[in-house]
Formats: sequence, structure tokens, C-alpha cells
Amino acid sequence: MMEVLPSDTIRRRGLMLVLSSPSGAGKSTIARNILENVPGFELSVSVTTRSRRPSEIAGVHYHFISQRDFEMRRDSGELLEWAQVHGNFYGTPREPVEQALAAGRDMLFDIDWQGAEQLRQKMPEDIVSIFVLPPTMKELLSRLKRRAEDPDDVIATRLANARSEIEQWRNYDYVIVNDDLNRAYDSVRSIILAERLKSGRRPGLESFVNTLLQEEPE
Ligand code: 5GP
Repeated sequence: MMEVLPSDTIRRRGLMLVLSSPSGAGKSTIARNILENVPGFELSVSVTTRSRRPSEIAGVHYHFISQRDFEMRRDSGELLEWAQVHGNFYGTPREPVEQALAAGRDMLFDIDWQGAEQLRQKMPEDIVSIFVLPPTMKELLSRLKRRAEDPDDVIATRLANARSEIEQWRNYDYVIVNDDLNRAYDSVRSIILAERLKSGRRPGLESFVNTLLQEEPE
């Protein structure tokens, strides 16, 4: 009987997809489209000290927590990565990520460049990163205003931070200019399809190939 390799018990290694962009480049809309239309993805729900926007649901978009709670989780190692962004703290809970990786499930991270950098250091083989750019700064500003959920001073801070965030684009595996939402979504979907087929991510194929090689066509 053929030996069962430990890797055969895993369908394939989970894909950890990081999406980053300055606020207003359309990343969250792309992320939502992926979660709704590409089977097999789950969102890593971050913790944050930012106040909840009216349209957001606690536990779905974020876990909204106090500064004290954040510091406790960070200091006890519960967060896989964390960063201060636009004056608030954000972090990725470690446990759901480890469970997804072990089970070969795919995860989507909507995190900033500082978080992406930390995940690349910790899980270099698993992270695929995409940076989403706005077509123009003017469009970025109008998207920030259109959202109409943030006060003017918050919009101003986010626009001021956009330039230094955009400068991080080179550190990403893929870069997409979001001048058309459908095209940007299609590009992300194509990246996912290709990355899922990578040989290194498919240990489960080992037994399929062994069987294939033993087959006598005649
Ligand atoms: P927002 O306040 O608009 O939801 O998010 C602000 C920025 O924080 C976005 O760039 C978002 O991707 C990033 N962010 C959200 N969650 C996390 C996280 O867990 N870690 C890091 N490093 N950044 C995050």
C-alpha cells in the first residue's frame, strides 16, 4: 500500500491574501466582492480602537475594543501583527489565522503596509500581497468624501497619509490601479486563481501524481 504522506491530509496550503491601499482607493469594496463571490475565502476580522462607523457591524467588520483591551491583547501575544494607522490601533488576532493555515483554508487581510510587512516576516511562504492604487489623487479625495461616514478632520488626516502609504507599493507582489472597479476585481480574482494553482501550495497533489504515474494507458 502506498504510504500516506502527512501533507496528503491537507487539501492544499492556505493562501494568505493581503490587500493594502490608502483609504479611499476602493480596497474594501474589492475585498467585499471577493468574499461574496470567490468561494473558500474568509476575512481576518481585526481588532481596532477606532470608533465604529454607522454602517459597520461589531464582530463582522472589526472587533471594536478599548485602548486598554488592545494593549492587553498585544502584550500577551494574541496579535499576529499590529500597527498604529491614522491615530488608531489595529491588529490581527492570531488564532483564526493559525487555524485557517492548519486546515488549508484561504484568508483575506485588509491591513496596511506595516501589517503586511510583519506578516511577510512571519509567514514568508504563505503571504501573497496586492497593493491597490487610486487612478488620481483627486479621485481618492472624492471617494473619501463620498463615503460620508468620516468627519472632515479624519478625511484630511487620511489624505495627508495617502502619499507615504502609496510609496510602499514596491514591497507588494502585485499592484492594481483601481480606475474601474469591475476590472480591479477581475484582476484580484485572476491573481487568486493563479496563486491557488501554484505547485508549492498543493501538497495534496502528491498522491494524485503518484497514481497517475502508475497508470498503464493500454
Ligand atoms: P479603516 O479605519 O479605514 O477601517 O482602516 C484604516 C487602515 O487600517 C486601512 O488601511 C486598513 O487596511 C488598516 N487596517 C485594518 N485592520 C488592520 C490590522 O489588523 N492591522 C493593520 N496593520 N492594519 C489594519
